[in-house]
Formats: sequence, C-alpha cells, structure tokens
Amino acid sequence: LKSIVIAGAGQAGFQTAASLRQDGFEGAVTLIGDEPGVPYQRPPLSKAYLLGKTDVAGLCFRPEKFFCDNHIELVSDQVTALDRTNRRVTLRSGSSLDYDHLVLATGAHNRALPVPGAELDGVFGLKDLADADALGSRLKQARNVVVVGAGFIGLEFAAVARAGGAQVHVLELADRPMARAVSKEMSDFFTAAHTGWGINLDFRQGLTRIEGAEGKVTGVELTGGRKLPADLVVFGIGVLPNVQLAAEAGLDIENGIKVDSYLLTSDPTISAIGDCAMFPSQHAGSPIRLESVQNAADQGRAVAARLVGKAAPYAAVPWFWTDQGDLKLQMVGLSTGHDTTVKLGNPSDKSFTILLFKRGHLIATESVNRAGDFMAARKLLARQPTLLPKDAAAEGFDLRAWEA
Ligand code: FAD
Repeated sequence: LKSIVIAGAGQAGFQTAASLRQDGFEGAVTLIGDEPGVPYQRPPLSKAYLLGKTDVAGLCFRPEKFFCDNHIELVSDQVTALDRTNRRVTLRSGSSLDYDHLVLATGAHNRALPVPGAELDGVFGLKDLADADALGSRLKQARNVVVVGAGFIGLEFAAVARAGGAQVHVLELADRPMARAVSKEMSDFFTAAHTGWGINLDFRQGLTRIEGAEGKVTGVELTGGRKLPADLVVFGIGVLPNVQLAAEAGLDIENGIKVDSYLLTSDPTISAIGDCAMFPSQHAGSPIRLESVQNAADQGRAVAARLVGKAAPYAAVPWFWTDQGDLKLQMVGLSTGHDTTVKLGNPSDKSFTILLFKRGHLIATESVNRAGDFMAARKLLARQPTLLPKDAAAEGFDLRAWEA
C-alpha cells in the first residue's frame, strides 16, 4: 500500500492516522476533515469545555506540529464522492485524491428535533465545537433551560446549566434517564442525583412545539398541552450515522456502513469505523453500531494494524463514561438483556458498582466514582469471566482483588 486516505478527522480518523505511523506505515497518509482546525475530542464539549475548565488547545488530540512531524497530511475539505473503480475521492473544493485504501470515519449527525419552532434562535444541538461555542455564550444569560432527551449529552448539559444557576427542565419520552444504556438501578440513582441538584426531570413527556417571539425561543409546549418558559432549548435525542457517501458509492448499509469482523466494507479496499460503522460484535452477539471514544479509537487502531499486516478480528471490550455534576459513571460491556444485578458499595456514598449478569454470566458493569472497579472490570470482561452472582454478592467481595 502506498497511499491511505481517511475521510473524517474525528476520533476514529485521527486514531487511524496516528496508529498507522506508530505501527511503522511509511506510505502517504491523508486525513480529510470538514471541520476547521486540527482534530479534537468531543466529550469535553458537554462537560469541561462548557464549564470553562479546558480551552480549545486542551481539546485537540495533538498540536499541528504532530501532523507535520509524522507526515500526516491534514486536508481541510469535504469528501463529496467516491469513485470505487478508479479508487479516487472527490472533494468539495473540486480536487481529487487517489487511494490504495480508504477509511471511512465520517461519524454521525444529530437527529433533528421534529417539532415546529425547532428553527428558532436559542434552539441548539450539541455535536461540534461551533455548537459548544455558540451554546456556551447563550448559557451565560439563560434563565430557563429546557433539555429535550435524558440521554448522556442531555444530562451532562443539564448538570452544567444547573451549575451555572439556570432553572433546568429535562423532558424525556422514556420512563427513566439513559434508558437504552444503563440498568434501572443506575437510572434511578441519576434521577435522584439530578433532582437533588434542583433539576426538574419529566419522564414520558413529549414536546409538541417550541414557541417564540421575534424569531427567538420563548417556551415549549408539551404533549399534554402544558407550557414551560424557555430562553434556551437544547436537544440530545440521538444521532444518525453519516452513510451518504458510502450509500451513493453502492456499499452495503444497514444501521451504519456495514463492515465485517475486520472492519472492511463490502469493498475490500474500503474500511469503515467509529460512529458511522455497523460491525459484528461478539459482546452483543449481533451487528451493532456504537457511539463512543473507545469504539472509535480501538477500531482506528485495529484498521491501522491490519493495514500494516497485523490483521485480527475486532473484539475490543466496549466501555464508556459520562460526567454529570460530581458523578463519574464508567461502564464496561453491554448490559442489554441482563437479568440479575449485584451492587458493590453504597449509592449513598456516591461510590458504588453494579454488576450485571445474564443467565449467570457477567456481561457488564456500571461504576460511579469507582475507577478501580472500572479498571478491574475492563480486564475481567476482556476474557470469559467466571464470576458468579452469588460470589459477587458475598459479604466483603472486592472486584479488584478478584480480578488480580
Ligand atoms: P466524529 O468524532 O464525529 O468524527 C467524524 C468527523 O468526520 C467529523 O469531524 C465530521 O465533520 C467529519 N466528516 C463527516 N463527513 C465527512 C466528509 N464527507 N468529508 C470530510 N469529513 C467528514 N463518547 C464517550 O465515550 N464518552 C463521552 O463522555 C462522550 N461524550 C460526548 C459528548 C458530546 C457532546 C459528543 C458530541 C459526543 C460524545 N461522545 C462521548 C461520543 C464520541 O465523541 C464519539 O463516539 C466519537 O467522537 C466518534 O468518533 P468518530 O471519529 O466516529 O466520529
């Protein structure tokens, strides 16, 4: 391989480029991104960056010099078409680039808020640095904030907004927060925490419209007809994979660009990774798409390794974290289908771990402010864990000691 082109310069694209060099790849590496500046991390956008605890330099994976030193060509442009026959990508600027191998790392975009008024000034999604900058300056003046969606981003933002002194009201269609990703026990713990911070959480509650005056948001109307005042509305109702390029080029698409266990698309000269890719997961037992730093970075590493001749099926253990107020929740594995839980530690100490079992097998863990358990669980779930619920439930059980 002489030339590797990476479309998308986010978490997955950056990691692929960096790992290719680390693994000794000597050909050309071109990283094409359609956002301004050097590649940066998204997680702080809804946490430390909004709180003013880190600046743009702190978000960047590496300074510009790193890309020069490592001969990674950063191209600020958008890939608009793939010509698979000639192995060529076309860019918005009109130029084109040939590849021997192409990595699609195009990420995902926010699901739009499907109600009238979503276009009003003061209604925000939170996906990129530009969103965070615009939102940050509005947040300073906001008094009444409505958050639509009690997922990770919605709740992180709610905690930040409340810390800044605003009245915060969270609307969620499901009957508990983070329902797709965490256990009922963990949802209940976070409901109590947010309520304790003075945040109003409204479950089984939809939005019918956003109201405004002179183009600016003034409030929202709920499905039951109730109205809430709002000078800022932030929605986090999920994302959709960026598959358009791949679809137009005739690659197989399902809930994402379909790849095999080596992260190859239906075209063996094209890989797809990160938020845009649907891959066969041995942890889920079926093809899934994950939206996490772990998944994007580990898939970037896996593709780089394959491209330098060290191919292996992708099998990394999924993990994820979220920071809300003084709570750091760290999860390992996939909890879908769990039937038994065992709690270690005491939620009232704000430091505990929930172990999730399915038919007697440990499949996932959820830790609050217990980094030691989280690290132990990552090691444990990387092999077939033999831990039984009854052992975990025994008096004095210690996950770190058990793992060691
Ligand atoms: P992205 O990082 O989104 O990068 C894709 C890039 O490709 C984007 O820059 C996009 O503009 C660009 N692009 C798309 N199409 C083209 C094209 N045609 N040409 C050129 N460029 C293109 N994960 C966690 O694990 N923990 C967290 O706490 C956490 N917090 C988050 C908070 C926020 C506010 C957000 C938005 C995400 C958070 N995530 C978190 C998720 C995590 O950031 C993503 O899963 C990860 O960034 C995915 O990496 P990616 O490279 O697949 O996509």
